[in-house]
Amino acid sequence: MLALLFHHSFLQLTQTIADCRIAGIFVSTPVTLTPSGQKLVTVILGDGIGPEVVKATQRIIEASGAAVAWEEQEAGAAVFKRGLPSGVPEETIASIMKTRIVLKGPLETPVGFGEKSANVTLRKLFETYGNIRPVRELPNVKTPYSGRGIDLVVVRENVEDLYAGIEYMQTPGVAECLKLISRKGCEKIVRLAFEVARAEGRKKVHCATKANIMKLTEGTMKRVFEQIAPEYPDIEAHHIIVDNCAHQLVKNPTQFDVIVTTNMNGDILSDLTSGLIGGLGFAPSANLGSGVAIFEAVHGSAPKYAGKNTINPTAMLMAGIMMLRHVGEFDAASLIENAMLVTLASGVATRDVVGDEGAASTSAYTDAIISNLGKRAEGWKTRDYKPINIPQLDIPVDSVRPESRRVIGVDIFVESAQTAEEMGATMTKLVSETPVYLKLISNRGTRVYPPTGALTDNADHWRCRFMLSDSEGDLPDELLYDILQRVGVQYRWMHIEKLQVFDGALGYTKDQGED
Ligand code: NAP
Repeated sequence: MLALLFHHSFLQLTQTIADCRIAGIFVSTPVTLTPSGQKLVTVILGDGIGPEVVKATQRIIEASGAAVAWEEQEAGAAVFKRGLPSGVPEETIASIMKTRIVLKGPLETPVGFGEKSANVTLRKLFETYGNIRPVRELPNVKTPYSGRGIDLVVVRENVEDLYAGIEYMQTPGVAECLKLISRKGCEKIVRLAFEVARAEGRKKVHCATKANIMKLTEGTMKRVFEQIAPEYPDIEAHHIIVDNCAHQLVKNPTQFDVIVTTNMNGDILSDLTSGLIGGLGFAPSANLGSGVAIFEAVHGSAPKYAGKNTINPTAMLMAGIMMLRHVGEFDAASLIENAMLVTLASGVATRDVVGDEGAASTSAYTDAIISNLGKRAEGWKTRDYKPINIPQLDIPVDSVRPESRRVIGVDIFVESAQTAEEMGATMTKLVSETPVYLKLISNRGTRVYPPTGALTDNADHWRCRFMLSDSEGDLPDELLYDILQRVGVQYRWMHIEKLQVFDGALGYTKDQGED
C-alpha cells in the first residue's frame, strides 16, 4: 500500500523551528538553532574557485542581517589527498546530520585520488533525490535571448540513472554502464516537479526523456509522469523527447516553465539552460530530499581561475538566496536578491559578463552588492515564493508486485573473436539437447545472427539469446546453469540476464532486427 505524505512537520532535533507557517519556497527540512536563535548551516568552502564564491556569499548573507550561523567543514580534493577515498570525512557527515542544511562550494575529484565524486557521495548519502536548477534573465547580462524574459526551472533526478556509476569492462575493449531507473525514484521526482511548479505559480511541466529508445528505463519516467500528471489538473503536462527539448530550448526557451528529467539528461540540459541566461556564473541549484538540503552553484571548481579574484560569485549567491528561503529567512533573501539585481542593473559585473575591460573583481562585485542592500530593483520582478510540499513517499522497496511472472529465456553475454556465423552454428549445437534454442545473437544491440545482410561492424562482445522451446514454460535456474555450463565450455562469458515476463508484458527489450 502506497502512502503519500507531505512533509510539513520538522523532525526531532534538539532545537528546531517549531512551525511551518513561513511563506517561501522550501519548508521541508528541519533547522537547528544556535543558543542565540540563529539557523545553523554546514558550510563547505570546496576546491578551486569554491572558497572565493562561498566566502563572497557568506559576506553578503552576514551583511544582510540573516539569522544564520556557520559550521565550517571539509570535503573534496584535500580530503582525497589525505587518503580518504570518499572525499567526505566523518565530521562533515556528523555536522550535516545535525544542521540538515549545507552551503557548499564545488568539489573536485583530483586525478589519481579517490574513485568517486564527493559531490555524488554527498547527494547519495543524504538522499537528496531532487536537484532544482532555476535560471532567469538578469539585468545587463547580455545574451542572444536578452529581452525574452527566460525564467524556468530544471528539476533533475539526482541519485539514480547512469550516475550510480556502476561500470564494468565487459571485454578488454568493451565497457558497460548500468542505467538503473526505479518506478519509485521517478514518482518522487515527478511529484517534486509538480510541487515546485505549484509553489512558484508556474503553469507547465515538461517531462524530457529518451523513452522512444530506452523504453524500459526512460520509458518508466514517461509512464509515471503520465500517470501522475492528472493529479495536478491546474498544471499543463507535456512529454518531450529530450533531444528535441534541447533543440526547443535553444529555439524558443520561453515556452518552458518546469522541465523534469532523469539524472544525466538533467545534468546536460541544465548546463544548456545556464548558457541561455549568461552562463554557469548565474546558475544556482538546490539538492532536496527527505531531510537534508544542499545548496550549491551548478558550476565546478574552474581551477584555472582559482585565487585570481575574477570569477563570478552570483551562482553561489543565488544558491545562498534559495537556502535563506528554505530556512525561513525571507526578508534577508529578498534584500539580497534585490541588491544583486540593482548591482547588475547598475553595470557592475565580473569578467565573464563584461570581458576583461571594466570588469569588477569578485571582491569588488561582492562589495557593490553589500552596498546596495536595502535598494529595490526597479523593473525586475522577483517571484513570490510559496512553500514547496516536498513529497515524502512511503513506498515499499517491492512496490510493483505483478500477479504473474515467468522466465522465458536467457541472454548470455560472451567475449569472442569468431564471426557471428561461426558462433551461431556452435551455440546452436551446444544447446541442441536442451529445452532451449538459440533465437539470435546480437552485437551491441543489433541482430547479427541469423544474418540480416546489414553492414554491422562488430566488437568482441556478443549477446546470445536462448528461448524456451515451450512458449508457455518457465525456465528453471537448474536449466539456466546447464546452458551456462555448456556455453562456458567454449566461450568466455561475462554476464547473463533472465528474460522475464511480468503480467504478460515483456520485461526486456527486443534487439534491433528481432522479430
Ligand atoms: P567548471 O568548473 O564548471 O568550469 C567550466 C567553465 O565554466 C569555466 O572554465 C568558465 O568558463 C565557466 N565558469 C564556471 N564557473 C564560473 C564562475 N563562477 N564564474 C565565471 N565563469 C565560470 O567545469 P569543469 O572545468 O568541467 O570542472 C572543473 C572541476 O569541477 C572538475 O573536477 C569537476 O569534477 C568539478 N565539478 C564539480 C561540481 C560540483 O561540485 N557541484 C560541478 C561540476 C564540476 P570559461 O572558461 O569560458 O571562462
